[in-house]
Parts: sequence; structure tokens; C-alpha cells
Amino acid sequence: MKEKGFTTGIVHGDRESPIEHGSVHKPVHNVVLYGYETAEELAAVFQNRQPGYSYGRQNNPTTTALQSKLSRLEQGIDTICFATGMAALSATCLTLLKTGDHLISSQFLFGNTNSFFQTLTQYGIEVSFVDATDVENVKAAVQPNTRMVFVETIANPCTQIADLKAIGAFCHAQQLVYVVDNTMSSPALFQPKSVGASLSINSLSKIIAGHGEVLGGSVTDLGSYDWSQYPNINESYRKGDPQKWGLQQIRKKGLRDMGATLAPDSAHRIAIGAETLALRVQKACSNAQALAEFFDQHPAIKQVYYPGLPCHPQHERAKALFCGFGALMSIDLVDDDACFKVLNKLKCVVLSSHLGDNRTLAIPVAHTIFFEMGPQRRASMGISEGTIRISVGIEDQADLLEDFAQALA
Ligand SMILES: *Cc1c(COP(=O)(O)O)cnc(C)c1O
Repeated sequence: MKEKGFTTGIVHGDRESPIEHGSVHKPVHNVVLYGYETAEELAAVFQNRQPGYSYGRQNNPTTTALQSKLSRLEQGIDTICFATGMAALSATCLTLLKTGDHLISSQFLFGNTNSFFQTLTQYGIEVSFVDATDVENVKAAVQPNTRMVFVETIANPCTQIADLKAIGAFCHAQQLVYVVDNTMSSPALFQPKSVGASLSINSLSKIIAGHGEVLGGSVTDLGSYDWSQYPNINESYRKGDPQKWGLQQIRKKGLRDMGATLAPDSAHRIAIGAETLALRVQKACSNAQALAEFFDQHPAIKQVYYPGLPCHPQHERAKALFCGFGALMSIDLVDDDACFKVLNKLKCVVLSSHLGDNRTLAIPVAHTIFFEMGPQRRASMGISEGTIRISVGIEDQADLLEDFAQALA
């Protein structure tokens, strides 16, 4: 049968297996324990000889339903959900890397991921930060102990776009695990599988849920990495289909043992949000394009960072890889010192650190989310002291243009 379209797959996915009373949603199973009729059955479930649920920290039917939807959106083989995006990301790195390993990461990174990678170095994992917009920098950083390459699709706040395809080809040739954080593009704009990524990580708290009322994260195995080649898979997880070994280890060590489980109620909310993902992304992208063009012409603005502008250094790459240019942009004012003044005049736009929300949000990044890392690291990411990051929402375009016009006047 022909694979269903993106949104059709989400809105009808739950009904593909029977649900009580013809309910169109998978019910919320608010439950910790699962009871069995016989001890034999209980043992079979625990030994993976029979499908079933063992304990709420490891699995829940509502979360399983969300995981199936995410696997479909990412065209992956399986997905594990976590309580937050950071939980998904940290569990993935902590379970697949060991002391003595080397990780190559893009230097253009979400602030908390940057901070987490600093923590990894305290456990004896080496991390090299490189300008991943050019694969040559990744190649130059490779060492005999390199195990993993980590990049984001569209970096925050200055929207650099990693050399996604060339890095994929290189990782494949070198048998490196290629982890792509797809949060900023979301599966509605980009499938990391198309560039040969091994794992795709999403913060579900952002545009996938979209409504700013639930946290979640996920890691999807895209089926392109041969885990039988990977030295860090424990003997006990080298069983069955090697395609599943990586996620098996992340599930057992990263979810069961570390315990950052997604709540079933959150899984339900995320699944509801995801139904309109493609629609919201389309609207937010078109608002973002209009705003970027407006900012680009505005005399008070020195620089606009948005992949949808032809002057963006990776505009052609974005056009070739993504179905749209995203809803995130940053601006530098001619007068850095006017940054707070402009922000304080915004009426409709919310001053907030979040992104991918239905509402348009703005934040002075050097003073907030990128404050802790200090001026040197900020400069390496292209952030100036007056950079304002804007996450564009789904409001009516005229209202957004008017709000920014009066704030900049
Ligand atoms: C927000 C974000 C995360 C972390 O997600 P949480 O759900 O907030 O923990 C990771 N990566 C990127 C690119 C993000 O924007």
C-alpha cells in the first residue's frame, strides 16, 4: 500500500490498530504497573519473548502510540520518547559514548547542549567544536577515537545550516554515528534520513507540540547505521536484529536506568499538537519570510539572519534540503544599545526564551540564554551583544509587521 501523506499519517495513525469504542485517539493510560494472569506471561514480557508492558518508567501504550507517529514522520525504524529534548539528547550521548571516546560537534549549538557537552568532557569524553557549515572542518577534526558527529539543522540564534549531506556521506564512509538535532526544522521541513543521519533528535516541546504547554523529547533511529560495527554496544544488547541495537541500548540504559520518562498525559498532548504540525509550520514560515524581508529593508537593522533571504550564506543549501526556511531568525540593530528599548515596545510579541510556539517570541540572546557561556564563545557562534532572536508564530501577518514596525520606529 502507498505510504500515506505526512498529515494524513498523523491524524489517522492511531486508528490503524483497534481502539476501544472506535475512539479516534489512543487513550491516555495513566498507569505505572501492568498486571498479568500468569507468572509465565510476566516472565516472557520481561525477557522480551512476548510483547507487553513491564513498568511505567520503561513503556506506556500512550507513549508507544506517539513513538509510532514520530517514527513515521522521521521515516525511521523506531523512536524512544523522553521527558524533555535534553533528556533525549543526554541519554543518547551518555549511553553510546564512553570515557576515551571523541565527539565532533557543530560549534553552533543550542546553549544547553553546549553546556551538556562541557559536562561530557568531565567524564573523559573529548569534544571538538567545529564550524560544521563545511564538511572539511569535520574531516579535519577526526581522530582514531572519534565515535560520533553531532549537528543541528538550523542553528540558533544565527541560523547557520550544517553541511548536512556531505557530513552524512563522510560519517557513513568512516562508520561514525551521525546524530542530527532536527528540532529547529522539524520533520515537517526536513528528514535527516535523507542525508544519511543515524539518529534524529527532536525536542517535542517546541514546534512539534507547538502550543507551549508540554515538554518532551525523542530520538529516532533512521535505520542507516550498522550497529554491529559499533564497539560500545554492550554484550547483552547484541541480540536480535542489529538495526535495533542502538535504540535498545538507549532504551535500557538511557530510559530505564536514567529514568527521564515522558508522562503519558504529555505524550497525549504532544500527539494532539503534532496533528497540525505541517499547517502551523507552513504559516509560521510564511510569516517569517515576510518579517525577514521587512527587516532586511529597515534602516534601524544592520543584519538579518534568516535562511530564506538570498543573502544568507547557506540559502541555496536550505532551498535544496528543506521544504521551507523555518520560523527562526535573528536581527542585529544598527544601534546595539537600543536592543532592550525595542523589545520593551513590542505589544503582541512575547519576550520569552522558548521557540517554535504558536505565538511570536523575541529575546535578547547575549543577555539571557547565551549569557552563561561568556563573550568569547558567543563571538564564535556569531552572536553580538545586541542580537535579538525571533521565533515566529502563526499570528496574522499584518499584526506582526505592525508590531515590529512600531517598536523599531
Ligand atoms: C529546545 C531545544 C532542545 C532541548 O529541548 P527541551 O525539550 O527544552 O529539553 C534541544 N535542541 C534544540 C535545538 C532546542 O531548540
